[in-house]
Amino acid sequence: MIPLSVPNFEGNEEKYVLDAVHQGWVSTAGSYVNRFEERLADYLNAPQAVVCQSGTGALHLSLIEAGVGQGDMVIVPTLTFIAAVNPVRYMLAEPVFMDCDDSLCMDTVKLERFCTEECDMNGNVLIHKKTGRTVRAIVVVHVFGNLADMEGIMQVADRFKLKVIEDATEALGSKYIKGKYAGKMAGTIGDYGAFSFNGNKIITTGGGGAVVARNEQSIKHIKYLSAQAKDDELFYVHNEIGYNYRMTNVQAAIGVAQLELLSEFIGRKKRNYDLYKKLLANAEGMGLMQFREGTDSNKWFYAVELNLCDSNAASAKLRSIIEKLRQDGIQTRPIWGLIHKQLPYRECVFYNIERAQYYSDRVINIPCSTNLTEDDIGEVVAALKKVSI
Ligand SMILES: *Cc1c(COP(=O)(O)O)cnc(C)c1O
Repeated sequence: MIPLSVPNFEGNEEKYVLDAVHQGWVSTAGSYVNRFEERLADYLNAPQAVVCQSGTGALHLSLIEAGVGQGDMVIVPTLTFIAAVNPVRYMLAEPVFMDCDDSLCMDTVKLERFCTEECDMNGNVLIHKKTGRTVRAIVVVHVFGNLADMEGIMQVADRFKLKVIEDATEALGSKYIKGKYAGKMAGTIGDYGAFSFNGNKIITTGGGGAVVARNEQSIKHIKYLSAQAKDDELFYVHNEIGYNYRMTNVQAAIGVAQLELLSEFIGRKKRNYDLYKKLLANAEGMGLMQFREGTDSNKWFYAVELNLCDSNAASAKLRSIIEKLRQDGIQTRPIWGLIHKQLPYRECVFYNIERAQYYSDRVINIPCSTNLTEDDIGEVVAALKKVSI
């Protein structure tokens, strides 16, 4: 079986983990935690990074710091992994679901239209007319390592005074090379950026995450919240409600080793993508999806769009194709089911969803691990070409 995505520990992981264990520093303090935070901040060119237990935790901390309150609205994509949305509910806030564009990331035109047509500015606050709720923030997901149109999104956010949380959990190392944000890394443009080191991400700590923020005070406060909000370590003084969200030193030891490999991994993701692209160029009824112009993506996950016409039958067809590929020893998966259709979110406001449904019915992800061989890729492509669309 060629798996969809598996972690790759070919560097100093074992050495650093054993070192952490031998030192006896296995919990949430220790030199690897500091080192991982410093190296990550350096890599991202961010003032400071705070590592934590998961990408979901990183998003939760960002929403708290953004001042999202009970009953507030937060604009989120519907085509994404549900962890990008659940933290909105942890805040007792209400998601508003937005469509995607052809990059699979949030549609900026619709975002702007929602803010102008469905909402009114009241002083410095954007109010959703129908519900009277305050729209407080946007969660933008850089899907599969592709980059969202941050230039457009930041313009909307500035105009309507919205906080921007970048879900960069899939996009560590992706950057803009053209336009206003040329040279900027995913996660470092909005007010907050969240990263994940879950097992399937481009680098992993088993489970883990990180947050960066544009504002240096903000990131210090996030660190404080992530460690039980201790105002006095010795006398146990706490002036706020904190969380037990710190990463452990053992996880960070893996993280430091993985970060050393990140450039190599991105190089392989790019080469494998190029090979897939070449081999799939003449495939009938399908195409490898592109990454946004003007960006240098980490090419974390590869998406194949199947040309399934009849929209009613598309989803059933997708299922049978995935099953056929599985029988051929190729693990693939459909892109996510739309979040606004999931049971906990069916009553929420959504806006003009079209492209997200289209792609949700037609896109599969194909094997993309950093240890794929050229033969593996040839095998995946042969199996794909065998399925009739
Ligand atoms: C992986 C992922 C998350 C959550 O990260 P965890 O570390 O698994 O909590 C959030 N959003 C998206 C888009 C993801 O892919």
